[in-house]
Amino acid sequence: MSAGTKKNILVVGSGIIGLCSASYLLKDGHSVTIVERDPLGDGASCGNAGAIAATEIVPFALPGLWKDVPGWLLDPLGPLSLRLTYLPKFLPWLYLFLKSSSHQQVEKTASAMSAYLKTAFDDYAPLLGEAGLQSLLKTEGSLTVYKSEKGREKDSYYWDLTRRNGIEAHNLSRSEILEREPQLGELAKCGVYTPHWGHFANPADLIKGLAEQFTRNGGTYITDEIEHIEHQDNRPSSAITKSGQNIAFDQLVICAGAWSARLAKKLGDSFPLDTERGYNTTLPTPGIDLNNMVLFAEDKFVATPMNIGLRIGGAVEFAGIEAEPNYKRCDALLTLAQNYMPNLNGAGGTKWMGRRPSTPDSVPVISQSSQHTNVHYAFGHGHLGITGGAVTGRTVADMVSGRSASFDLNPFSINRFN
Ligand SMILES: Cc1cc2nc3c(=O)[nH]c(=O)nc-3n(C[C@H](O)[C@H](O)[C@H](O)COP(=O)(O)OP(=O)(O)OC[C@H]3O[C@@H](n4cnc5c(N)ncnc54)[C@H](O)[C@@H]3O)c2cc1C
Repeated sequence: MSAGTKKNILVVGSGIIGLCSASYLLKDGHSVTIVERDPLGDGASCGNAGAIAATEIVPFALPGLWKDVPGWLLDPLGPLSLRLTYLPKFLPWLYLFLKSSSHQQVEKTASAMSAYLKTAFDDYAPLLGEAGLQSLLKTEGSLTVYKSEKGREKDSYYWDLTRRNGIEAHNLSRSEILEREPQLGELAKCGVYTPHWGHFANPADLIKGLAEQFTRNGGTYITDEIEHIEHQDNRPSSAITKSGQNIAFDQLVICAGAWSARLAKKLGDSFPLDTERGYNTTLPTPGIDLNNMVLFAEDKFVATPMNIGLRIGGAVEFAGIEAEPNYKRCDALLTLAQNYMPNLNGAGGTKWMGRRPSTPDSVPVISQSSQHTNVHYAFGHGHLGITGGAVTGRTVADMVSGRSASFDLNPFSINRFN
């Protein structure tokens, strides 16, 4: 790379999105600095379910979904909760979420997400290879389980849309799901197997390993918090940290997860980002082995076999960024899991809460700023940050280096709700 094209790039945040972006930017020969206030801390990337859910192209806002919401909110074991004090702040996001659930919009979103996630595995390959992390990736596919044929039938639009976008999904009978997962009990009646799915055996090891490789490759990693952005000639030019450091940059990339909209606002871009808080429990001695990652469709939780035990998680809670976790959500998920897997040993689990950075239409923001050509955003990956992390990272490097993206970036624009 010539001196003229090599840029000083500041990446804010070292969750999966920041690390993949920074790693791909280094590959282009740029000088890259990450600033992260809390490595391996309260970001979403370390404690999640670890799935590369490359088949999950259908958005959460589906036509008619609103009919299920009251029942979910009233059920103490239900998948959705909302803290009433948060309702006024939540309403604008909810309005856009419902607006995104039109039939036409859902079809468009699925097609955009399918183009985006097509290279989910391929884009991880070089990053995992050079960091020696390949053994963390399991590519066994996933099993979605239903309590009845009627339950599977209720999701027929979801599966039809998935298949129409070229994704393999095989309906299985009860005996076929038991062949895959003998530990499932009476409640599991039928299922769907999707081969194009994988998971990381421990997302925290992935994050740690990618961060270590980033510094081995010559990147600079600073533990601090970005508080202000300074401008020179109306152009963002340096960031001021909590400890008072002034970090100059040519290009700025915001990958601050659920906290990104606050930084974007300082840069003149407003975006309706909320956080869907999710919970899980990792059981060190579950007493059972699962061969696949298993998704329990009607009760909306998942079980992931990890190298540290079995992780049972899911749930969506709207309560904002700052509210204290409500770990009763973990207990509710564990109770549900024991209903499906009667031999599951629920003792000794570690509980976790994470903040999914969520957009109303389930599409992340991968976009140049509307105000400044040297500012880029990569946030809002919701339930799919681990899945899309490497695709987003490669795309950020394409944007910064002026190359065309491998898919249409219009649906991912920071401006799309304006
Ligand atoms: C229960 C649960 C299960 C999930 N399961 C899956 C799954 O199976 N598959 C999947 O694909 N996705 C899953 N997700 C979603 C996934 O975890 C997120 O989409 C992803 O981790 C978001 O990554 P990120 O890098 O954008 O954000 P984060 O990981 O939150 O990273 C953002 C970082 O920015 C830092 N930061 C913020 N502001 C500043 C600042 N001003 N200065 C410096 N640093 C700052 C934060 O400290 C944080 O570390 C799950 C999420 C939850 C909660």
